Amino acid sequence: MYFNEEFETLPRPALEALQLKRLQNVLERVYANVPFYRASFAAAGIKPSDVKSLADLRRLPFTTKQDMRNSYPYGLFAAPMEEIVRIHASSGTTGKPTVVGYTLKDIDTWSELMARSFVSAGAHKGDIIHNAYGYGLFTGGLGAHYGAERLGASVIPISGGNTKRQLMIMQDFGSTVLTCTPSYSLFMAEEASAEGVDFKNLKLRVGIFGAEPWSEAMRGEIEEKLNLAAIDIYGLSEIMGPGVAIECIEAKKGLHIWEDHFIPEIINPETGESLPEGERGELVITTITKQGIPLIRYRTRDITSLTYEPCICGRTHARITRMSGRSDDMLIIRGVNVFPSQIESVLVGIEGVEPHYLLVVDRVGTLDTLEVQVEVNEQLFSDEVKELQKLSRQIEKEIKDMLGVTCRAKLVEPKSIQRSEGKAKRVQDNRAL
Ligand SMILES: [Zn+2]
Repeated sequence: MYFNEEFETLPRPALEALQLKRLQNVLERVYANVPFYRASFAAAGIKPSDVKSLADLRRLPFTTKQDMRNSYPYGLFAAPMEEIVRIHASSGTTGKPTVVGYTLKDIDTWSELMARSFVSAGAHKGDIIHNAYGYGLFTGGLGAHYGAERLGASVIPISGGNTKRQLMIMQDFGSTVLTCTPSYSLFMAEEASAEGVDFKNLKLRVGIFGAEPWSEAMRGEIEEKLNLAAIDIYGLSEIMGPGVAIECIEAKKGLHIWEDHFIPEIINPETGESLPEGERGELVITTITKQGIPLIRYRTRDITSLTYEPCICGRTHARITRMSGRSDDMLIIRGVNVFPSQIESVLVGIEGVEPHYLLVVDRVGTLDTLEVQVEVNEQLFSDEVKELQKLSRQIEKEIKDMLGVTCRAKLVEPKSIQRSEGKAKRVQDNRAL
């Protein structure tokens, strides 16, 4: 089943011809409208008219998250503000979010690609889609919402949280498709068993899970506990939001990336060189139809590989393997993006705490946990236990207030955290992904 059969099954030569035409078009547009690109192309000694084949894409410079921060908030927009109808943002290290803007046509494209994604996951018109992604600046909620409407399904815009109510609605409204983060789905399963709700008695058939990395083992657990087919979806707000790539329910083996709108590449994150099909590296995406904020060779920091092998579902679009991590330090804890540097900036503002810390991430049961181990100074360490406990609570509260993530603070002896000559090891991720 397809949502847009013609484009989803376009033979590769036609698909590549379309990509080249759209690539040339977007290059002309960013060159004409975005000073950043005019400057970066000039620095690389290339003009849009020099790009005569898809292989020439490699000659263009990358765009990074830092470039987006430097252009905060609207510097990379290629369309005038009068044409921007929606603004979304994602959290960043500096406290300033990364901002993206959509024209009416961008919203239209996004809706179609999410609708294609729903069909790829096995959803159809007539489904009741229980959308538990957060609505707001985060792209998850509204992205899935518009796609569900485009598909012609009934969407329940329940957003995240209040799990008991989620379960009641699921039962009473007859939800057939669930969209949320994979960890939240398992949390729902725990709540359900505490409430005496059996997923076998619900109508849920398909779950579409994304916004954080998860494993095949976790898929097995979700499918068993929620009694549904669990499908992996990929997206990021910089590129569009959810629906950039998704598994097909027929194969559940790699995520089809919608190549008539995005050109994927895999590079060595250290050297920037392009890697051949099948090799793992950093995913780089060029958006070829976006109007609001097109990005050329955007470094996603996500680690994956790419395959062009034909798929049993009949879609001709390349597949990326499930994400295995990120090439920088960003942590995703219960769907919240956390950078060690953000925690560091909280810690350094607290009296008696030394700038030596280690973040220990684990998964207890179905939920991610974060322990912040931090050294305290000699004087404080010899203080009463009561004082140390008070300090722990203060650290936990400030991190919760600043970053929205719950953690446990563990104060440790001065000089007990391992020092490094090079890049400090700030994170110990014990989650078995
Ligand atoms: Zn497929």
